[in-house]
Amino acid sequence: MEGNPTGGCIAVLNAGSSSVKFALYEAGDNGALLFRGQVEQLGLAPRMKVVDARGETVTRRKWTNEQLDHRRATEEILKLGRELLAGRPVLGIGHRVVHGGMRFDAPARIDGEVLKYLGTLVPLAPLHQPHNLAPIEAIAEAAPQMPQVACFDTAFHRSQTALAGNFALPRELTDAGVRRYGFHGLSYDYIVAHLAETMPVLARSRLIIAHLGNGASLCAVDEGKSVASTMGFTALDGLMMGTRTGALDPGVLLYLMMERRMSAKNIEDLLYRKSGLLGVSGISSDMRTLRQSPEPEAAEAIALFVYRIVREIGSMAAALGGVDGLVFTAGIGENDPATRSEVAAGCRWLGLTLDEERNRRGETRIHAEGSRLTAWVVPTDEERMIARYTGRILATAPGSTLRPAVL
Ligand code: AMP
Repeated sequence: MEGNPTGGCIAVLNAGSSSVKFALYEAGDNGALLFRGQVEQLGLAPRMKVVDARGETVTRRKWTNEQLDHRRATEEILKLGRELLAGRPVLGIGHRVVHGGMRFDAPARIDGEVLKYLGTLVPLAPLHQPHNLAPIEAIAEAAPQMPQVACFDTAFHRSQTALAGNFALPRELTDAGVRRYGFHGLSYDYIVAHLAETMPVLARSRLIIAHLGNGASLCAVDEGKSVASTMGFTALDGLMMGTRTGALDPGVLLYLMMERRMSAKNIEDLLYRKSGLLGVSGISSDMRTLRQSPEPEAAEAIALFVYRIVREIGSMAAALGGVDGLVFTAGIGENDPATRSEVAAGCRWLGLTLDEERNRRGETRIHAEGSRLTAWVVPTDEERMIARYTGRILATAPGSTLRPAVL
């Protein structure tokens, strides 16, 4: 077991608005995945599914007529984790935390003071941060000896300049934290680390990484560092998404408030849950469903999704002063050749020619021979990145003995 003399494991928790995903790895930078699972539909009809490293289902559970919130879901995951590990020690638990504010440009070991600071960021990410913090608090109570590490979606973007981060707002608001933070950082971090291992020359060049999933964003990366991203103050900005608008003229919000008399809550619901592919198609937020639909509204929604990506690629290319590689990742980026092909068609002016056969097969390299701009498909793995960081932080913490704790 490379780098894992204790036989210990690292657990990863990724709590979203209505789900808690989790994974267990052997410790070590590339330690084997042992189990992966999620509790989803929290608050509705909660259900849990766990698979082993080969993808075989290990456990399925359902809760009927029960309000399983994030805390209780965490307790259920801990209980199951104990069963699955059968006495194998856990070295620590890594968490995805959406917001690390201006303070964290890297993952951090969690203590009372860090947790308090992360709590102050709740107003900046009210839909995500409280869900991310709930499992941390639940574990700190149930197993106070267990080391916990927070890995931030914003941290990767802290390399951006103030110029890239500032809005044209009065200084007082910028100073109060109303600025661009950028998200999906763990995904970008994973892709950059993977490229550094597998294609080091590409990793050092000017890249645009397109994270196209239910949430979607672009990141401009130069020499492995984020220089610009499409998501801003919140995860609403930039690209059109499954149910989120992406960039919107702020005047639309004034119109909705003043003319339509919509409340802040209703506007929030509209922007986060009723727009994007779902809102434009009126059919679904799911790209697979839209690709199969004969309805013209489905095609219109996809066309707008692609158009927005192409426009924002232009913006990222400008921020980089030119671009060498375009990397597709996440659910749509990894699995939908049609979206990649349509985006590539809009990037011909940047010198991109796709090899359509390679693209159809979803190979790593999808550009044609002689294409000036190169294009790639690289599957992301945010949970792996969290496990890696957690193991590294615990191994390097002052006074760390990597003593296994009891889950
Ligand atoms: P994610 O949030 O990264 O899990 O991505 C979810 C999105 O990926 C959804 O819109 C899915 O429809 C889309 N997706 C997953 N698999 C495919 C596929 N084979 N073809 C097209 N879209 C897909």
